[in-house]
Amino acid sequence: MENKNGKDPGAAREAGPSACDACGNKECSAASRRSNENDQEFAERRRLESRLCRIRRKIVVLSGKGGVGKSTVAVNIAAALHAVGRRVGLLDVDIHGPSVPTMLGLEGMTLDSGPDGLLPADAGGIAVMSLGFLLPHPDEAVIWRGPLKMGAIKQFLMDVAWGDLDWLVIDSPPGTGDEPLSVCQLIPGITGAVIVTTPQKVAAVDVRKSITFCRRLGIPVLGVVENMSGFACPKCGEVTPIFSRGGGRGIAESMNVPFLGSIPIDPAIAASGDDGRPYVRTFADSPTAAVMRGIIAPLQALEAEAK
Ligand code: ADP
Repeated sequence: MENKNGKDPGAAREAGPSACDACGNKECSAASRRSNENDQEFAERRRLESRLCRIRRKIVVLSGKGGVGKSTVAVNIAAALHAVGRRVGLLDVDIHGPSVPTMLGLEGMTLDSGPDGLLPADAGGIAVMSLGFLLPHPDEAVIWRGPLKMGAIKQFLMDVAWGDLDWLVIDSPPGTGDEPLSVCQLIPGITGAVIVTTPQKVAAVDVRKSITFCRRLGIPVLGVVENMSGFACPKCGEVTPIFSRGGGRGIAESMNVPFLGSIPIDPAIAASGDDGRPYVRTFADSPTAAVMRGIIAPLQALEAEAK
């Protein structure tokens, strides 16, 4: 895969240090070959795991369908973690709608390769990597068959040199099909999932599917966020419920997973996304930013538990 600079990250891969000199832990799952792996599969898994084991925790942001605000939530989780002093990476693997570059003001960005692979872009201290950086043109639809898509996601994951991070926030492709499945299976040791939904009943079915998806894969569900929950008046801030409300909370309760908060529709959220500035940074004092910061509470609780 060639990036926009015309550089082949594979070349950097060959020149880089051999896989799995990251930790030297003999118990590490990348230290020995699995019975069902051939040489190439083993080498690729070692390469991937040696990169990702330098990241302490990874969370995946999922949604049952597109357009519910998954990327918005992922960007703001990353910014909220960064604001409390964590080393944060944001990985956008939404192959059909990589919106993270726009939301972080990195549109048209070209990537550099270091000796050990592709170097993430910097968005005010957040390390960012998006499939969007590698796609030839933002207006072009990606029309790839399944195996090609999966191969691209895998290659991409193997090529990024994240370095040491406290948290990697993964903006997954929407749904519960092959693409999010590949992402969740390729990335070892995902700490948990945040599921984003809208309040309407039609979205509820999809949340159930996302929760079941996580349970099947053994990924703990950190909680459900209900986005576009009512309309926040730009003048007075009062939230009017223009759709039904509480769908996300109801499902979270009925499926026994935490509810992490309701984010209203707020024109300032859309404007922040279009302007490339995370809402929690630009509107840090607003009630909605406080809701967004609340989403990282379970992540901080996990850190505290580990101490
Ligand atoms: P997804 O990742 O689920 O496809 P996005 O995060 O890209 O969804 O959001 C889709 C659009 O909706 C973006 O333009 C985003 O700025 C906007 N948006 C998301 N959440 C809100 C909200 N709470 N209020 C206003 N606009 C929002």
